[in-house]
Amino acid sequence: MTIKYSGESGLNVYFFYENDPEIPSFLIEKGIFKGEKNEFYLHGLEKETKIYAGLGEKNKTTPYSLLQTGTKIVRAYFEKLKEKSISFDFEKIEQNLSFFLLEGLFLEIFYSFHLKKEAKKRTLEEIIIKNTAPEIVRRAFQFSESRNLIRELVDLPANLLRPHDMAEKIAAVFENSDIQVEIWDSAKLEKEKMEGILSVGKGSQAAPYFIHLHYIPENPIKKLILIGKGITFDSGGLSLKPTDSMLDMKGDMAGAATVVGLLHLIEKIDLPIEINALIPLAENMISGNAYRVSDVIQYKNGKSVEVVNTDAEGRLVLADALIYSEKFESDLMIDLATLTGACMVALGTDIYGVFSNDEKTGIDFASFVNEKTSEKAWALPLFEKYKDQLKSKIADLKNTGKRWGGSITAALFLKEFVPENKKWIHLDIAGPFFDDGIGIFDSMATGIPFESVALYLEEIFLKQ
Ligand SMILES: [Zn+2]
Repeated sequence: MTIKYSGESGLNVYFFYENDPEIPSFLIEKGIFKGEKNEFYLHGLEKETKIYAGLGEKNKTTPYSLLQTGTKIVRAYFEKLKEKSISFDFEKIEQNLSFFLLEGLFLEIFYSFHLKKEAKKRTLEEIIIKNTAPEIVRRAFQFSESRNLIRELVDLPANLLRPHDMAEKIAAVFENSDIQVEIWDSAKLEKEKMEGILSVGKGSQAAPYFIHLHYIPENPIKKLILIGKGITFDSGGLSLKPTDSMLDMKGDMAGAATVVGLLHLIEKIDLPIEINALIPLAENMISGNAYRVSDVIQYKNGKSVEVVNTDAEGRLVLADALIYSEKFESDLMIDLATLTGACMVALGTDIYGVFSNDEKTGIDFASFVNEKTSEKAWALPLFEKYKDQLKSKIADLKNTGKRWGGSITAALFLKEFVPENKKWIHLDIAGPFFDDGIGIFDSMATGIPFESVALYLEEIFLKQ
């Protein structure tokens, strides 16, 4: 598929804001098309097919609404139309917002993963983008390419993506790159006393892994640590989940996949950030060897944790990675995890939770996301008093507290393992990693919060 910036096509898409005076009057008069948000009208003429695509009221347009229009229009037409070439005219859209519409278009056009006998037939060979700067188009393409890598990993069912598969895929992604990949198997995990990962992974026949990715650009000006939760399937373990709650749990490695996608992008666009990325991989299953409720895990840093719920496994594997992070200098550490259902109860399906041991950093991060990206985030408090809920009679900590405020106690648990003096942001992405009502990908992986983290690193972190 080629992307061009000029040329003729038999199929042309024109975007219009609501009630734009340039919308042909017969369309408005007959009530066919007014430019309402995600209103599309296909007009077949002798030599040209036109698609009119509505963007809604101009002053209500957001990065989210544009990204959504991009994915929706591709889904509405592109399998039905057998065109080889299509053009999109961006004349009406401000340059700084065209990125998001392009991202939406590319995410849908280039998403290729499927397991059906018949592949979707897409005949498209050429895309012509008119009236926007080529560098914005290239950038949107790079973002969507890395984001689709995340989405395809998350959408892969758990029988095809067990911890060793994920380790192999990560190695393959970075094979010809400047990113060094170190893969630790169970023997190495035992030697390094990664007791959280080993405990959670014990119930599965597919052994757990730990991955360390290292990226040093030529002239780094900042240092970052990324940590991603990689539970390739979460049955809940002996604290078994009901079937409905298990359905999306192939995506319990979305944090890990997002870390992979971020490195994939950052190397491509040459951000001057040295990154150490840490990814614990395990499958949380049931067997005679599975870890039990009431087990006590003794961590390498001397802390002990009483397991009171085997379904709160994410924080147990992240604890190992957080302890290990002490080895690396950093200006910022971000962990990404589909961590708690409680975060979804608090914020719903679209908004992810942001915690930080530096409150202002967390609030600023969330404000940036809401103002400048297509994603939604909200800063939640690390309210110390709730730490009382994690007191155990037999160990230093329990792995869960009471039901209320469960995303906060989970974050407080992680904080216990964050090395001193490290600035840290924790993103609880249990809500939006899958599209359960967000309205961009209909029941598929979203790649959220890839866009917000990438833009934050570029526009805030590097400029601080
Ligand atoms: Zn779980």
